[in-house]
Amino acid sequence: MATQVDKTAVPFDKTALESVLNRRFFYAPAFEIYGGTAGLYDYGPPGSALQANIIAEWRKHFIVEEGMLELDTTIMTPAPVFETSGHVARFADWMVKDTKTGDVLRADHLVKNVLEARLAGDKEARGVAAQPVVEDDKKKKKKAAKSVAVKLADEVVKEYETVLAQLDNFSGPELGDLCRKFVIHNPDTDNEVSEPVQFNLMFKSSIGPTGAYPGYLRPETAQGHFLNFSRLLDFNNGRVPFASAQIGRSFRNEISPRAGLLRVREFTMAEIEHYVDPQDKSHARFADVRDTTMVLLDRDTQAGGSTETREMTIGAAVDAGVVANETLGYFMARIHTYLLKIGIDPQRLRFRQHMANEMAHYATDCWDAEIHNSTGWTECVGCADRAAYDLTVHSNKTGHPLVVRQALKEPIVEERDVPEWNKKVLGKTYKADAGKITEAVEKLDQAALGEVKKALEGGKATVTLPDGRQFELTPEVLTISRKTLKQSVREFTPNVIEPSFGLGRILYTLLEHSFWARPPTKEGERAERGVLSLPPLVAPTKVLIVPLSAKEEFDPLVAEVSAKFRKAGIFSRVDDSNASIGKRYARNDELGTPYGITLDFASVKNRTMTLRERDTMDQRIGPIDEVIATVTELVNGTIDWEGACKRLPAYDGVQAVE
Ligand code: AMP
Repeated sequence: MATQVDKTAVPFDKTALESVLNRRFFYAPAFEIYGGTAGLYDYGPPGSALQANIIAEWRKHFIVEEGMLELDTTIMTPAPVFETSGHVARFADWMVKDTKTGDVLRADHLVKNVLEARLAGDKEARGVAAQPVVEDDKKKKKKAAKSVAVKLADEVVKEYETVLAQLDNFSGPELGDLCRKFVIHNPDTDNEVSEPVQFNLMFKSSIGPTGAYPGYLRPETAQGHFLNFSRLLDFNNGRVPFASAQIGRSFRNEISPRAGLLRVREFTMAEIEHYVDPQDKSHARFADVRDTTMVLLDRDTQAGGSTETREMTIGAAVDAGVVANETLGYFMARIHTYLLKIGIDPQRLRFRQHMANEMAHYATDCWDAEIHNSTGWTECVGCADRAAYDLTVHSNKTGHPLVVRQALKEPIVEERDVPEWNKKVLGKTYKADAGKITEAVEKLDQAALGEVKKALEGGKATVTLPDGRQFELTPEVLTISRKTLKQSVREFTPNVIEPSFGLGRILYTLLEHSFWARPPTKEGERAERGVLSLPPLVAPTKVLIVPLSAKEEFDPLVAEVSAKFRKAGIFSRVDDSNASIGKRYARNDELGTPYGITLDFASVKNRTMTLRERDTMDQRIGPIDEVIATVTELVNGTIDWEGACKRLPAYDGVQAVE
């Protein structure tokens, strides 16, 4: 039997985790020796390997499993693209300024921090244990909490809770009203704050030497998918549904990034754009996920001032109309499975629906996968039904059709009014404007065309161009006649379902969920023997090879074992430092290495080695090849530690003879 471990014996300590992540160089502030820049981080060897493994599993789980079309599009984007997509006008957050110092704060974060601190103060005053304040937040909360241990009236508590439940739904002016109503000041200075103003989050640049071509660093990868839609469709033989996927860097000039990897200015995203027929949002594989149980926080609950979640299968949620359609539900369930697979704690995962104001105006439904961590609930994956918005706006702007043409099984036969032009007269009369005039008339719907026809029967009609200019048309240049048309092709703009992952947020919350500490075993021993219980699937290194002695006679065996792991595709590392074996294992517990192998003098003599499991510290022993085969299966997930224990006997500690 494998040993059971209690990972909660030592309470979670964020400072201890941060010390491990910094010491072991998972990540560190970028440009650190120049003093660092807020919101920019570099990943070191274990952080990079962890991220690469998270991405590798993402590619398998989504791109390979679903046959998605992968893209790698440019980061630098000419301004017109983001003018059309709406980012130049709307990709902004609301900020307020300290009226005396000019310090800038994000308006919604200010309201949240102050109200949360007041509620914590109220709980303290009532003698109710408030949520334990985690180390990193202490400073912020203390400053925000001018009203620590001040009891609030019951109705004020209710009001604050309602505001917090609906916070994402407030516009800038509403946040300004809240600051005034609740007397919210800058907690750092106690000065009043200004009215919220919008701050665009895109980094602006210039393409080429003239300064005449403005560009932006992309704030998401999505536009690169949309602009290539017709090529992708062609690649997919003209058929929908299909999805494109892209993993790449995005940039957002966040107002005040303070929460480590959770809010940064440059980060890796993994985005999927799944194109569907707007008339049929069913999903062929929905039956495979129907029974997945999810924790949901719907918009009506939030609108009612509550954050109570409910457990539902995704099948029931779609059937009841809580989730808008099968395809959206399918992706929510797949996101859920992916996050659990890489090691996110299911107890700290929920899907929160956007409220009406929070959602982009064109979106029909949107759910965020939120993961709980020491800062609260954090959106880690957005999953939105963006309708036909993106493809429509880019198509309208460029004139390039971003549509699907589908052969109809039954052709549609109908009578329609059709404009016919006398090209010679048209060109002579309207010269350079002729093209614009025909385009304007041909865009008219049947009702409007009927009006023009009636007017022409009276001798003349007027057409208005998009720039406002009006032209008179006569029957000599334009006739409109009734024709029987047979339509054998249906043309439509697909709708887009978009799951959008922020990998840094997932990586950081995974580190928090994986971190725990072993209690001291002996009197006077340090408590903080940190362990990162990363699943073997994503752990940076899978096996640590520890030769007990630096003697040369160990070298061939170390080389043999390393080569065999390489051949099996298992990433191993040798730790031949002089540190004690206990220290070497402790270091690797902090690095999240799930398995350790010790080569001792008996290994050289008997060709056996011991295998240690990180979390339980259980040790087993077996012939070299048997241990390698067992580790290979453990890492590939075909057996668990229980299974390994059945194969390899417990190590009784008597093999190490010199
Ligand atoms: P959004 O397009 O705003 O829905 O963001 C999509 C995903 O990107 C979010 O779910 C986050 O995981 C991630 N994300 C957005 N902004 C940031 C940021 N400033 N730092 C880190 N990750 C971010």
